[in-house]
Amino acid sequence: MATGKINVSVENIFPLIKKFLYSDHEIFLRELISNATDATTKLKHLYSIGEAKGEYGAPLIEVKIDKEGKKLHIIDQGIGMTADEVEKYINQVAFSGAEEFLEKYKDSAKDAGIIGHFGLGFYSAFMVAHQVEIISKSYKDEPAVHWICDGSPEFNLLPSTRHERGTEIILHIAEDSEEFLEDHRIRELLAKYNKFMPVPIKFGTRTETKTIGEGDDAKEESTEVDNIINNPNPAWTKAPADLSNEDYNSFYRELYPMQFDEPLFHIHLNVDYPFNLTGILYFPKLSHDLQMQKDKIQLYQNQVYVTDNVEGIVPEFLTMLKGVIDSPDIPLNVSRSYLQADGNVKKISNYITRKVSDKLKSLFIDNRADFEAKWNDIKIVLEYGMLSEAKFYEKAGDFFLYPTVGKQFLTLQDLKDKTKELQTDKDGKLVILYASNADAQHSYIDAAQAKGYEVLLLDSPIVAHLIQKLESDNENLTFVRVDADHVDNLIKKGEDAVSALSEDEQKELQTTLEEVIPKQTFTIQFQPMSAEAAPFMITKPEFMRRMKEMSAHGGGGMFGMGNLPDMYNLVVNTNSALVQGLMNTEDKDKQQKQIRQALDIAKLSQNLLKGEELTAFVKRSFDLIH
Ligand code: ADP
Repeated sequence: MATGKINVSVENIFPLIKKFLYSDHEIFLRELISNATDATTKLKHLYSIGEAKGEYGAPLIEVKIDKEGKKLHIIDQGIGMTADEVEKYINQVAFSGAEEFLEKYKDSAKDAGIIGHFGLGFYSAFMVAHQVEIISKSYKDEPAVHWICDGSPEFNLLPSTRHERGTEIILHIAEDSEEFLEDHRIRELLAKYNKFMPVPIKFGTRTETKTIGEGDDAKEESTEVDNIINNPNPAWTKAPADLSNEDYNSFYRELYPMQFDEPLFHIHLNVDYPFNLTGILYFPKLSHDLQMQKDKIQLYQNQVYVTDNVEGIVPEFLTMLKGVIDSPDIPLNVSRSYLQADGNVKKISNYITRKVSDKLKSLFIDNRADFEAKWNDIKIVLEYGMLSEAKFYEKAGDFFLYPTVGKQFLTLQDLKDKTKELQTDKDGKLVILYASNADAQHSYIDAAQAKGYEVLLLDSPIVAHLIQKLESDNENLTFVRVDADHVDNLIKKGEDAVSALSEDEQKELQTTLEEVIPKQTFTIQFQPMSAEAAPFMITKPEFMRRMKEMSAHGGGGMFGMGNLPDMYNLVVNTNSALVQGLMNTEDKDKQQKQIRQALDIAKLSQNLLKGEELTAFVKRSFDLIH
């Protein structure tokens, strides 16, 4: 019918496309199936408005490998193209588009910041094929056409005998791309990119066995049926009202076939103004390795898979969730930093944050017990969100929980209400006691609980930062770890307990103790406690611990202090019989041994006794009992 020369200045598109898009060859299939899908959807639309005649039927897209002929076929039953349309859309638009594309991206495509997915379209076929054929019959009453091109601007346009409406693309696979003639490779690509495309995609056939008849007459009958690899109606495209919890869970299994845990809950996203976005996010049970959790959210555009890197689109703290997001409004051919500055993308990120906090709030209100039961599995995400996303922090006050060592879950308001009677310091500030390790701090927790104080269990790695933030936002609140000081010093209530030692006696004891106990490490404090309480107790002042933590976390030079020495309080229970006995010991040598032993036991209970000291202590203890 015709031969011609495509009007572009690039002499041979084929090597250029290969060169610039080297890493992403596999996307050719996604692009061709997207075109086939568009062609099918367009046809459906024409039927719906009465432009196309006859039956719409149930069109399929078929992918077929011809291993011997080294060809890959993509066949659709869509709108098709006339000779004029091939001329216009393929020769002119596609190839001029290719040239423009290469011109525009020849530098940036090499930049690692580029996402790597462009609307490449039809000509991406030349990344894997040395020759491409199109056989197409339009829905219009016009003859079928056959276009052949080897990637150079020369093409052939011939008549074709094809009768069925639709388009067949034939790729003559290049030698270096023969992986795309492998069944498993194509299957893998279809599963990755086309699993939820809206038109059924056939790849081969499978055997289906049915039982026919009943009782003794029952027979098994096997038939070959089309093997459809996709689910054209994934859950996120449906209305939440039409989906049960089980539907959401089974869609989760469809997305993550290798995942055996059920999700904790889901959030259905659905918005069409000022941007278009649908999707479902799942809160998974998090494992300890948080890095492993990332990159599980899949990004789609109109049901076509694009990427699993949603950085910049989903707020950082939510990248630990799973699920899908489908939005045509996310620009893809731009660098990550541009993406983050994009107004629409910022709105999308804010919308997701809002939806997630709304959902958490409603879960908390509707079924608090269930929400509490899930708390330990979700808290790390929420803590991270509180610290990193101001909008989330504002909303989270309604549902963010503080667990107590007694396994109660309190909101900040609950906590304030519960503690306001008993737990104020001398300045009238609320003192919130917390433990970071219920076992290690057991004796301190015990002491606090004996006084009727609430003790929180805040054991996650970033909780120190959260505490800092809460204190700076609530000036009447102060957090103190249970072992930071003796509770009676932290929380000043009523009259002090009576000490069995007079002030003079305490002075004398102090001198005796300081002969053995190094002053630069321990500050001795006398505290009248109950006779049963430990005679010696070591505490680490809250401010000291925080300074240390901060200088350990990269801020070494920040306070100009370099390596801070360890400083502790040694709290001496003046009502303890042991302490009194110690005072009255005549034998100086024995007295010093007693002090050393008591100090070592106190250190041991705080896990501070190590190395040589520990060895000496163990030896001394054995000597004592024999
Ligand atoms: P895009 O899909 O972004 O428009 P392409 O280069 O992929 O760009 O395709 C160019 C045009 O060729 C399409 O817009 C469409 O009109 C036509 N086309 C491509 N593939 C098909 C097909 N399978 N059936 C019908 N028309 C097609």
